Amino acid sequence: MDDLLQPLIDGQRRALSRAITLVESTRPDHRIRATALIAALPDRQALRIGLSGTPGVGKSTFIEAFGTMLTEQGLRVAVLAVDPSSARSGGSILGDKTRMEMLSRNPMAFIRPTPSSAQLGGVARRTRETIRLCEAAGYDVVLIETVGVGQSETLVAEMCDLFTLLLAPAGGDELQGVKRGIMEMADLILVNKADGDLLATARRTVADYAGALRLLRKRPQDPGDFPKALPVSAVTGDGLDKAWAEMQALIAWRRDSGHFDSTRAAQARHWFHAELRAGLLAQLDQPHVRAEMARLGDAVAAGQMTPGGAASQMLDRLGRTSALAE
Ligand code: GDP
Repeated sequence: MDDLLQPLIDGQRRALSRAITLVESTRPDHRIRATALIAALPDRQALRIGLSGTPGVGKSTFIEAFGTMLTEQGLRVAVLAVDPSSARSGGSILGDKTRMEMLSRNPMAFIRPTPSSAQLGGVARRTRETIRLCEAAGYDVVLIETVGVGQSETLVAEMCDLFTLLLAPAGGDELQGVKRGIMEMADLILVNKADGDLLATARRTVADYAGALRLLRKRPQDPGDFPKALPVSAVTGDGLDKAWAEMQALIAWRRDSGHFDSTRAAQARHWFHAELRAGLLAQLDQPHVRAEMARLGDAVAAGQMTPGGAASQMLDRLGRTSALAE
């Protein structure tokens, strides 16, 4: 048994941090250990909440306030971040502890910044495994924050029980700026900054989005009034309890209808396929395979082989080498 397992299950933060560092590592021996550790975890469940929004919309302020509210209700909260852009820029703009000062000092909360040397391809697996580690460590709610960049929302939505989109108060024109696909993923749209001078605009924005949501495809598995749009203020705390009540109501409904479990099962199947595809692609990156590909590529370019013929020969070989490797 891995010596991280028991302290992790006991909820020791240091063990959790070390286990996350382990799943973040790409070293082959670490990967083997991480895979075994993940497989040995007890089956504990947290509520997995995805939170997306463009920079400046108030995600960290929201998480700070919302997370603190949950801890005051006796819930343990873990905060993770999915930030594919950090893989490119080398810097971490999300999950930064200084952005959630109160929560980071809260013994009921655990905040994990994005690793700065993130490898894009590994983001999904690393995040999924980190969620599992947080669940095993006894966290009740796992918040997964992401910026509205490329595929990151889809990726987060595929690993969450509930997906929340945080928006800023805006005029009707800006409503068009939210991609339909992202709206379709959202279970809740929270219009943040509904306070002070922005309150009236925020209310109008909520009405606009509520209207837009009604036009989207309904989800037969959910109550008819979901997805919903609500106003919140991360600064004053207004609307946060209401947002949490709506989240709980939706999740209770999905649990009762069996949809909670069937969605997680479908997600697990999706990730199995994704891992398999990634694994096959990784095989193509091995030096001896690349050499063979280059050789066949030359033959195709010279007209000695057809593209299809060369590909099937290559696939045949891959099948044979992976069988031999077992
Ligand atoms: P993030 O980039 O999405 O994490 O956004 P931040 O949480 O860093 O917030 C961006 C700016 O919006 C900061 O100046 C916050 O103080 C401000 N902000 C965040 N939430 C609210 C809110 O509820 N009301 C108002 N008025 N300002 C807010």
